[in-house]
Formats: sequence, C-alpha cells, structure tokens
Amino acid sequence: MKQRQIKKTDWSQFLSGVSAGDYIFQNVPYEEQIEQASALISEADVILIGAGAGASAAAGLTYSGERFTNNFKEFIEKYGSMYMTDMYAAGFYPFPSQEAKWGYWSKHSLLNRFLPPALPLYKQLYEMVKEREYFVLTTNVDHQFQKAGFLAERIFATQGDYGNIQCEKGCHPKIYDAEDLFRQMDQARSDCLIPSHMVPKCPVCGGNMTMHLRCDNYFVEDENWHEAAGRYGDFLRGMEGKKGVLLELGVGFNTPTIIRFPFEKMVREHKNLSLIRLNMNEAVVPESFGNRAIGIGGDMAKAVSDLHRQMIPAALAEN
Ligand SMILES: [Zn+2]
Repeated sequence: MKQRQIKKTDWSQFLSGVSAGDYIFQNVPYEEQIEQASALISEADVILIGAGAGASAAAGLTYSGERFTNNFKEFIEKYGSMYMTDMYAAGFYPFPSQEAKWGYWSKHSLLNRFLPPALPLYKQLYEMVKEREYFVLTTNVDHQFQKAGFLAERIFATQGDYGNIQCEKGCHPKIYDAEDLFRQMDQARSDCLIPSHMVPKCPVCGGNMTMHLRCDNYFVEDENWHEAAGRYGDFLRGMEGKKGVLLELGVGFNTPTIIRFPFEKMVREHKNLSLIRLNMNEAVVPESFGNRAIGIGGDMAKAVSDLHRQMIPAALAEN
C-alpha cells in the first residue's frame, strides 16, 4: 500500500483541568439566550460544530421508549427485558452467535442509519452554517450531518458509522459498506437470527467482522478517518485570530474528552472564540467565560428551531 503522510490528532493537548466551582447554569431568560446565540453565530467568521448523542436524540432518533419497544419487540421477548432496556444497552448484549449478533445489528443499523431521512434539526443546522466556514466534529454514527447536506470533507466522525463494518480484530485498516448486506439480513431474519450463509467474514484473516463503532482497541482508523482528523487539525489552526463560535450540541459525559473538554479549553485560551452549549440537563458553562459562553438547557430541537428562525430571515435579506 502507498504510504501517506498522516497527521495525528492528539486529544491530550486539548484536555482541560478546571475546577468544578467555575461552572454555572446561566440565569438569563431563554429568549435572550437565543438572541445572543444567533448574534454570535451570525457575526462569526468560523463555526465549529461539536455534536454528541443528545443531538440525535433531540432530532428524533431516541434509543428508548416506544421507538425501542415497538421496533425490537421480538428481541426483547427473546433475550429478556432486563437486558434489552434500550438500543444502547441492547448493542452491548453478549449475543450467543454471529447469526444473533447480525440479526440485531442489521435492524439497529437500518433503523438509525439507513431508514431515517435527514431530520429537521440537522437540516436547520445546515441552513444556519452552509454559507459559512464551518467544520463538524461528532461522536454520532448515524450519518445525519451528511444527509442534511454538510460536506463530507468538513465532517470528522471520530467514533465510526452504523453503515460500515470492519474486521473484529482490526487486522487490516479498511472498513466496508454494509448497506446491501443489512437490507438482505433484514429480509431474511427469522426468530431474531440471520441465516448462517449471510454472516460476513474478514476477507483478510477469515475471522469475524464487527460494526465500525469505537468500543475497544480494535476500532479501525482507516485512511479516510486519518484524513478527516487531519482536516480537523487544519481547521483548528485556521481559526487562529478569527472570530469563531464553538456550537456544542448534546455532548454529555460519556466521552467528554473528544468534544466537551477540548471546546472549553479552546475558548478558555482564545479570546476570539465563544462557546454555545445546547444540552438538555447539562448546559453548565464556566462563569469565567463571561459573555463568551451561552448555555442553553432543555429541549434542543426547540432551541435549534428558534435559532434557525432568528437567523434565516437575516441571511435571506443579505442576498
Ligand atoms: Zn481480519
């Protein structure tokens, strides 16, 4: 294989270490926050979006409740409601066979990755930034940013994609598009199992395949992944001295070292940057950021829609 120059992104240089006492829930009326946030975005030269699980949940891809129990009734009955509590937990179920594993994942992938259209929350986000210099860093694996129109070369999806599979042992740095396979599995599934002849095997080592999701040290970071990491690094360097907004959406404390902590560190160290944090229950922001931080709690779908409404008429008027 051709050797490529690969730029490594080192998360540790973005890690933050700030005392918890600095964090506050802002005591500013919601309407005022929306106004301030839309002004910040409108006036920004560069916009860095960071999105976590909360964004897709707010957009409608909820992993629990009826969306789970209606779609996975058969699985809940077969494996037990104690383990099959929601799609997140179900993904970690120790399926007893490859037929059972792919029986589950083909359904999970179709439901969250291939069947949903671009959802309104993502489309509104896109309209808000499409004419601007933007970049998306996301831990989400559902492809919503791409579907909504965000350019693939401006997205770094660090944790994989429900649409791809890889060697379970990561024996070679390649991932494989599994859409057709998952659709065939979905048709052939019976009693939560897929037929044995459909079980994918690694074309290099002959071993089992697995979803392209970061869950252990075997996660494959292929050429595209490294190129996206490099472009993210370039974008960060390009923000130097520019008026920038870091728009953080639904990032909790599952993997805060990828988006949440680095975003805070960047805003702390660069006075030209502001942070807008949208988060259902955890919209705390460092008080020391002053008016360079806006933490909007509650329903993010509403907040994005309100931001969109504030911003789009202005954008249209410019043309
Ligand atoms: Zn292999």
